[in-house]
Amino acid sequence: MKVLFVGDGQLGQMLGASGISHGHECLLFSTRTQEVKPLSAHVALPWTLAEAIDWADVVSWEHEAIPADVIAAAHDKFLMDPARIKSLTDRRAEKKLFDDCRVGTSPWQSYGTVSELEKLLSKAEQPLVLKAARGGYDGKGQWRFKPGDDIQALAAEAGKEPGIAEHMIPFNKEVSLVGARGKDGSVCCYPLITNVHTQGILSYSLGGIDEVPEALQQQAEEAFHRLTTALNYVGVFAIEFFVVGEGKEAELLINEVAPRVHNSGHWTMSGANCSQFDLHMRALTGMPFPQLHIEPTLMLNVIGAQQIPVGLWHHQDAQCHWYNKDPRPGRKVGHVNIRTANLATAKTWVKQWRERLQVLA
Ligand code: ATP
Ligand code: MG
Repeated sequence: MKVLFVGDGQLGQMLGASGISHGHECLLFSTRTQEVKPLSAHVALPWTLAEAIDWADVVSWEHEAIPADVIAAAHDKFLMDPARIKSLTDRRAEKKLFDDCRVGTSPWQSYGTVSELEKLLSKAEQPLVLKAARGGYDGKGQWRFKPGDDIQALAAEAGKEPGIAEHMIPFNKEVSLVGARGKDGSVCCYPLITNVHTQGILSYSLGGIDEVPEALQQQAEEAFHRLTTALNYVGVFAIEFFVVGEGKEAELLINEVAPRVHNSGHWTMSGANCSQFDLHMRALTGMPFPQLHIEPTLMLNVIGAQQIPVGLWHHQDAQCHWYNKDPRPGRKVGHVNIRTANLATAKTWVKQWRERLQVLA
């Protein structure tokens, strides 16, 4: 099969690599430079977007900001309505989807102007997180508010763009569910992944390490089912949750979704018999999903570092991935997967390597 991916970042590259290993031909379309590129190459093909679409059997994506011209030109080659996916780049549409599907999320309101935001903040009785409706990632385009703060100054800054204000959630931890939905509606999910963020950026993920209460896994998979069914989704889909409450009282609130492969799923490249990229390729090509076998794996992001230390490249338990991007503080430039026996060993790895691998802004 011939697959064209929209986007040529690391997710597109890793999707393409998986596609090749399944015997498919893959090309990437850079939405930044409008070029059609073979996998891993910096030289472009002398092809127009229309020619690449014509060549492809299927068009998929590494990021949800699918340009309107691609949506129009490739309409017949998508396995689902890409306009619905693009709508998820707006947090208002995303939160509305959660409410429509009746999956629990932090209470929210939208605002369109500085004065609307001022009014909203002046009535607020609890801490809020303000998020720009569009364009935020890695914690960018977000502001924190608590009653008593300077409303005018905050509204002047945050209200420049439309956004949402949601209750600040006092969560115990953050987890994500990564899974895939096939053309026939079948679903395959990994166990809930524990995620730790620093300054809004994913620092590390624990895959198959934490014990996940069955009730939470079920709640997460129910949300996955409802959201992907409502979207008539095909492919890998990720949901970020907050865990609130302890023990038997614990439950999940959705933070946000990513209609694509996700950074918190990178551990599956080492810790599962079928990686999230393989799972996406299976969904696109109608191959059945496998029975998943999981090995506990820590995924440490490489953020802003100039390189991955040689000691890790040589370590028998570590698999290093370098994205060939220019490092700058706060930018994800690679990740390292480390198979670990248990949580204590994972924490030792984090303690030993995190500072050397992560340079934040
Ligand atoms: P990503 O890079 O995952 O796309 P993002 O910038 O889109 O991130 P969010 O995931 O919404 O934004 O927020 C980043 C982080 O900020 C969250 O992982 C969480 O730690 C914190 N956060 C966001 N919303 C809330 C909230 N309502 N209450 C408490 N913490 C929050
Ligand atoms: Mg997030």
